[in-house]
Amino acid sequence: MAQLATGLTVLTAPGARIHGMTANAFTSVSLDPPLVLCCVSHTARMHAAIKEAGCFAVSMLGADQEELARYFADKRRPTGAAQFDTVDWVAGPHTGAPLLSGSLAWLECEVTEDYAGGDHSIFVGRVLSSLRITRQRALVFYNGGFHRVA
Ligand SMILES: Cc1cc2nc3c(=O)[nH]c(=O)nc-3n(C[C@H](O)[C@H](O)[C@H](O)COP(=O)(O)OP(=O)(O)OC[C@H]3O[C@@H](n4cnc5c(N)ncnc54)[C@H](O)[C@@H]3O)c2cc1C
Repeated sequence: MAQLATGLTVLTAPGARIHGMTANAFTSVSLDPPLVLCCVSHTARMHAAIKEAGCFAVSMLGADQEELARYFADKRRPTGAAQFDTVDWVAGPHTGAPLLSGSLAWLECEVTEDYAGGDHSIFVGRVLSSLRITRQRALVFYNGGFHRVA
């Protein structure tokens, strides 16, 4: 899988377990209705956060957001709302989940299905809103490293 170049997202969930996590296991599923999916490890705090909230938001990362991708993949970051203290964000109008400023695009999703997938869960989300923010270059993960679309 390291040979498959992917985009990068930060998934976020609102509420009592407000949380964010870097994820590249994210893709579109259906156009009508608009569905996407993300795969989240059972052991990640993000798993319980999405389960409890029943929704999640997606910030698609741009070329200059590698630092954010690294931060939200680092288990030493603060927990709860404190992890967003050093990050610019706004609350999603539909879910309240953090949407990271400077991203390429945002989605807000309501979880419609939750499938078992080995040590991950596959959360299918119905897209409640989508917004393209900027047209800057994308951040890409490939062969274990961060890259930018030329
Ligand atoms: C490019 C990239 C893409 C990624 N894509 C995905 C993805 O699609 N789906 C996905 O689920 N993850 C993905 N990850 C991993 C994920 O971003 C990190 O594991 C992140 O820290 C999980 O956040 P969390 O707070 O939800 O879980 P955390 O609480 O940070 O836990 C993460 C892992 O660390 C372990 N852990 C936590 N605390 C400790 C501790 N004190 N000592 C030892 N181990 C500990 C947990 O058991 C768990 O396995 C990706 C990471 C990168 C860099």
